[in-house]
Amino acid sequence: MPLPTRPGLDAVPAYRQGRSAPAGASKLSSNESPHPPLPSVVDAVTARLATLHRYPDMSAAALRERLAARYDVDLSEVTVGAGSVEIAAQLIHAVAGAGDEVVFAWRSFEAYPSLVRIAGATPVPVPLDAHHAHDLDAMLAAITPRTRLIFVCNPNNPTGTVVDADELERFVAAVPHDVLVVIDEAYVHFDRTESRGAGIELFRRHPHVAVLHTFSKAYGLAGLRIGYAIAPAAVAENQRKVAVPFGVTDLAQTAALASLDAEDELATRIDEVVAQRDRLHDVLTAAGWPAVRSQANFVWVPAGDRTAELERLLQEGGVVARAFPGEGVRISSGSVEDIDRVESALETELAEVNA
Ligand SMILES: *Cc1c(COP(=O)(O)O)cnc(C)c1O
Repeated sequence: MPLPTRPGLDAVPAYRQGRSAPAGASKLSSNESPHPPLPSVVDAVTARLATLHRYPDMSAAALRERLAARYDVDLSEVTVGAGSVEIAAQLIHAVAGAGDEVVFAWRSFEAYPSLVRIAGATPVPVPLDAHHAHDLDAMLAAITPRTRLIFVCNPNNPTGTVVDADELERFVAAVPHDVLVVIDEAYVHFDRTESRGAGIELFRRHPHVAVLHTFSKAYGLAGLRIGYAIAPAAVAENQRKVAVPFGVTDLAQTAALASLDAEDELATRIDEVVAQRDRLHDVLTAAGWPAVRSQANFVWVPAGDRTAELERLLQEGGVVARAFPGEGVRISSGSVEDIDRVESALETELAEVNA
């Protein structure tokens, strides 16, 4: 007799992690911070190791209070999860089930289609426009009576494009109030446009908006798994029902609080990552690759049928990036040395283009 399987799971692709890098290579495949954790964060976490025999505070009260004060929202509107990918799952499970539809741009965050299918709902991917950005009009047109949730990944992973704050507001205003608009701002700290951080303001002005933030990227805590949402209280309440109990560890909560105490220091690091991102874009462009201007901590190269070639060149130069076969390569920003390495890997091409 075969073991039981849940119908529909065949259609769920397993999440693919960015490739690991051999010793000495630059791992630019997962949009991680190139910086090791801040000493103050390591100290705070170390001090909590003695209480590992205790369950964490399931309500993450201290962290949620801190975030509520920071964004001037009600405590009931703040939820935490084991990474914002877990929160994305909570939000989907809170509003959508079998027969319901979830709209998102494509290509966008790899996890969206699987999370939607796992909830039993139907993914509705809407192609990005010719500039690799969200096509908000097409997304509006994709709404049906079955639509429950729309993701707007801003800046978008993997293309690094942002939507203009006014256009996003017009979009949100046009979406029916029984559809939740989730603005995934995993990369908001790297955005240097005037539209930066539009999500929270939209949350304040509209009843059907939730915003996702993470400590994984700009704050460098990817290994600890912690993120949060600012969501309408009624949605947040249902998120708590579908969350796996005790998913967010005490160490993660502690590290998040310590990071909020160290925001000035982190801001300097973020500026460095932004500077290397722009340099990475310029190096790629100078070498003749069609890099897209990015507001995140990575650069997208829609290399099309030259994707494998670019991946190989980088790999030979000791750089592991994220390739999407036939579409393009996403290269995370890194340290000065990491981007030096990208430059060396493309040296022959740089010379040819400039000859
Ligand atoms: C990395 C990422 C996340 C979440 O990361 P967590 O580590 O789970 O917080 C969420 N959304 C997007 C678009 C991402 O790229």
